[in-house]
Amino acid sequence: MSLYTHWACFDCRKSFHYLPHAKGGLKGKPKCPECRKDMRDMGVYFEPPPSRAKKCWAIMDLLSRSGYKFQTEGSKAFIDTFVLTTGRPTLEGVRRRIENLEKEDAEARTRMRVKMQQEERKDSRRQKREMI
Ligand SMILES: [Zn+2]
Repeated sequence: MSLYTHWACFDCRKSFHYLPHAKGGLKGKPKCPECRKDMRDMGVYFEPPPSRAKKCWAIMDLLSRSGYKFQTEGSKAFIDTFVLTTGRPTLEGVRRRIENLEKEDAEARTRMRVKMQQEERKDSRRQKREMI
């Protein structure tokens, strides 16, 4: 395992690794050494596609813009299994799966909120009963 986090330039389709901030690496957002644009942190477990693989980079760009990072073995496994799903994912497929995951997330949050409100109501009813 590498300690170095991968910073990607989506214009050059290249990735450069640096020590993470916490471990005394670069301060602030590093710029691409080639085009001087801002790079994005893709995480320690990011495996950069070859720069000619434009479609793969477009997918990585979408992942990054959607807040996905290869920060831990777990997040890499999650992205591989639930977002990319195959060795040759399509941009459209990945976009759809990200949307579905977000929907599921929102539904899970709503269910949680409803459940908490029910519990609160139960609690306040119990308290009222106890006061009588
Ligand atoms: Zn660049």
